[in-house]
Amino acid sequence: SKLKEGLTKTRDHITSGMDAIFSGFSSIDDDFYEELEETMIMGDIGVCATEEILEELKERVHENKVKNPADCKQLLIDTIKEKMDLGENAYDFENRKSIIILIGVNGVGKTTSAGKIAAHLRGQGRKVILAAADTFRAAAIEQLTEWANRSQCDIIAQSEGSDPAAVIFDAVAAAKARKADVLLCDTAGRLHNKKNLMEELRKIDRVIEREYADAYRENLLVLDATTGQNALSQLREFKDVMDITGIILTKMDGTAKGGIAIAIQTEFGVPVKYIGVGEHIEDLQKFNSEDYVNAIFD
Ligand code: GDP
Repeated sequence: SKLKEGLTKTRDHITSGMDAIFSGFSSIDDDFYEELEETMIMGDIGVCATEEILEELKERVHENKVKNPADCKQLLIDTIKEKMDLGENAYDFENRKSIIILIGVNGVGKTTSAGKIAAHLRGQGRKVILAAADTFRAAAIEQLTEWANRSQCDIIAQSEGSDPAAVIFDAVAAAKARKADVLLCDTAGRLHNKKNLMEELRKIDRVIEREYADAYRENLLVLDATTGQNALSQLREFKDVMDITGIILTKMDGTAKGGIAIAIQTEFGVPVKYIGVGEHIEDLQKFNSEDYVNAIFD
């Protein structure tokens, strides 16, 4: 499947190490768990999530009186699925008047993801307006304009350096006037300047609360999977300044670090809503943790 294809490197990375452990050990002992822990951490599952998962695995091994390491594999898969379970993923913006704010640092794939989501929603017959509220870089505005053309959506933009909240204000007015279904906003995520970022986001919040309170709100943080543990620290930082309702995990196609999806949902309890598996407009997939775990461990 397309999902399995996109996760090839992650699967090779995680399962080859694990299979060696499950078949190489003759008994379930401390060494076995230590090796497993190391492999999981190397697979970017994250220290906290790995510990949580292994704690639970140990209990299950004990309860089920499992003696053979090979029999642990299915138990581990089940444990990871359960730890990742956050209930069914919601995509309410597909059928309600909505505003989606995309945040994330430069280069993670925000603009590309905005274009992909816009195209996806357009395909469902929704009226989408893009807002270029990343006014920090002229290139970001140009790029979003290209994506707007490609996905045949309207775009609201101002010149480089203008106030992002003013762009959002304009975009909301346009969304109301044109009866848009979804307003999709690109923003500048300058984490190195956290105070400015907070102020900027707070200003945007105020505009939306005042002008567009009846719209369903989604705050999606875009993370580049190839950056592994760095992506997790970005999540930690952004969670401090904003209520993150979901994650878009990009560049899953080119990385062995796809295990961070496990950390994101287990450790942070934030749902991964989409994964990016390529640079093309159709290379965005809805995320389902069961399918994901099956694809990785198959
Ligand atoms: P932004 O600065 O966060 O807006 O990032 P861009 O949208 O400009 O993306 C940065 C680069 O990553 C571009 O070259 C994109 O084509 C590429 N990119 C984005 N998403 C994906 C993905 O899922 N897979 C791959 N392979 N490349 C991606």
